[in-house]
Amino acid sequence: MRYFYDFEFFERGGMGIEPISVGFVAEDGRELYLENAYFDWSVVPQDHFLIDNVLPYLEGADSVYAVSKFEMGETIKEFVTQTENNQLWGYYADYDHVTLAQLYGRMVNMPDGLPWVTLDIKQEAIRLGSPDLPLQYEVEHHALADARWNKQAWDYLNVFDHGWGVTGP
Ligand SMILES: [Mg+2]
Repeated sequence: MRYFYDFEFFERGGMGIEPISVGFVAEDGRELYLENAYFDWSVVPQDHFLIDNVLPYLEGADSVYAVSKFEMGETIKEFVTQTENNQLWGYYADYDHVTLAQLYGRMVNMPDGLPWVTLDIKQEAIRLGSPDLPLQYEVEHHALADARWNKQAWDYLNVFDHGWGVTGP
C-alpha cells in the first residue's frame, strides 16, 4: 500500500525539526490529519514563513486533530500498519521522513510495518525529465491538502511513465 504524506514543521535553527501538523493519504482512500497540540509558537519569529503560510490554516490546539507527539506517532502507526508491503511517499521528502522517524525516537525505533525510507516524488519527476506537475487547487502548506496533492502528483507521474492501467514503482 502506498501512503502519501506531508508534515508542516519548524526547523529549530539546525537543532532538530519540530512537527506542527501531518497529513496522510492512503491509496485505498483513507485519510489522516493530526496537529501537534503542544507546538510552541512563541519560538517562531514573527516574520517566519510559517506565521503567514501555515498558522492560518491550522485547526488549533482545542480541535479534535490536536494530539501529543506520542499520540501522533501511535496514530500514524495504526493507520499505516493495517496494510502490508507499505511504501511511504513524499515530495522533497527527506525532512518529512526525519520528522516521522523522530516521533518514535532513534532511526532504529521505527515501528515494524513503517518503511525506513520515504520515496520521493521529486526524484521520480527528475528521473522522468521534470515534467510539469499538476496544479494544487487546495490551499498549499496544509499538511492534508499537500498529502492529497502528493498522491495526485504520483498518479500523474505514473501515467506519464507507464500509461493508463499500469502501476509503477
Ligand atoms: Mg506541506
